[in-house]
Amino acid sequence: MLDPKDRIFSNLHGQESWNLSQAQKRGDWDKTAQLIKKGHAWIIQEVKDSGLRGRGGAGFPTGLKWSFMPPVDDRPRYLVVNADESEPGTCKDRDILRHEPQKLIEGCLLSAFAISAHVGYIYVRGEFYREAERLQQAIDEAYAAGLLGKNAAGSGWDFDLYVHRGAGAYICGEETALLESLEGRKGQPRLKPPFPAVMGLWGYPTIINNVETIAVVPTILRRSGAWFAGIGKANNTGTKIFCISGHVNTPCNVEEAMGIPLKELIEKHAGGVRGGWDNLLAIIPGGSSVPLLPKEICETVTMDFDSLRSVQSGLGTAAVIVMDRSTDIVKAIARLSKFYMHESCGQCTPCREGTGWMWRVLERMAIGNAKISDIDDLLDVSRQIEGHTICALGDAAAWPVQGLIRHFRPEIERRITAYTQGNAHA
Ligand code: SF4
Repeated sequence: MLDPKDRIFSNLHGQESWNLSQAQKRGDWDKTAQLIKKGHAWIIQEVKDSGLRGRGGAGFPTGLKWSFMPPVDDRPRYLVVNADESEPGTCKDRDILRHEPQKLIEGCLLSAFAISAHVGYIYVRGEFYREAERLQQAIDEAYAAGLLGKNAAGSGWDFDLYVHRGAGAYICGEETALLESLEGRKGQPRLKPPFPAVMGLWGYPTIINNVETIAVVPTILRRSGAWFAGIGKANNTGTKIFCISGHVNTPCNVEEAMGIPLKELIEKHAGGVRGGWDNLLAIIPGGSSVPLLPKEICETVTMDFDSLRSVQSGLGTAAVIVMDRSTDIVKAIARLSKFYMHESCGQCTPCREGTGWMWRVLERMAIGNAKISDIDDLLDVSRQIEGHTICALGDAAAWPVQGLIRHFRPEIERRITAYTQGNAHA
């Protein structure tokens, strides 16, 4: 378990006020100017040394991403923070915006300085109305205290930070769709390359990071990259906010060390599975887009990027969705398929057509109204979507279906057989 002294988000549940004076008492904005005076290269190296990997789902090393920015020239450069938290099951950034906004704002200044940007945007999902309101109040407080704007925090670096509210489309969480939306257009992903570090917002070099990623940067710089790297496991370092929902006794957000066993996470922090561990059916470990894991794997798997990949799933956003034995697992995955069909932007044929096709087949399979051969057809279609689209929504739609077939094929077959026999006797 995480040592309490290593906890970064000490006000994650809003036990204390979110305002600037309380945040400063908790350690935010402590000697920020001194950190900036150590220089761009020092900050980037500390973040590289920390081993921090992006907390938005992809897990790309943050320091490495920053180092992709081209050399400074006379063009503008931007930092964009992705607060479009829309992955079903995920609710960690929401609590940072509500209860720890100054960690994010200070992180924006330090990260923007690292990449030599004078302007930052925080793109907040449309449904987070109160969160955007709170964030704006916190930014106003920071401006009034001289922590943002000209000579931000007395560092000699000018930095302006803006909140931009989205309109509620899931696809705007994809970084290039987010940029399109920020520029005032329909949120549709761009073809890559070029990547945003080279050609991002309004065609200028841009770094896009998740809220949690940016919010941990100040603590890493204060306590050192080596400190952060000492928590968790090799290549999967630091602390992580896990969102535990579904059939547990006490659903919660909790900050823990990367690499904590999944079973320990649920039993220690979420009050255990409803009806006891043996009542567990399956868990989606990283937000709705990653493949589910049956109980046997949940017994031993640890919560980090590499361990979850080794069991053909993923850490994703670390949103743990627990399903007990009362769950209709085929219907549950059919519901997720409907979500991805609804959120597809429609640019790519495999995603536009395939997501709806998979949903319709799964709806039939949920009641057994299918042929046994449909299972392999469904798997085949999911593989034709995966990796054949402009953005990762295609993969996000395919993986839950693949996970269902991988682990629950006998259950699907049982339903088809029962339905067929029932009709034969009718
Ligand atoms: Fe749009 Fe889907 Fe293609 Fe992504 S994969 S660009 S959501 S059609």
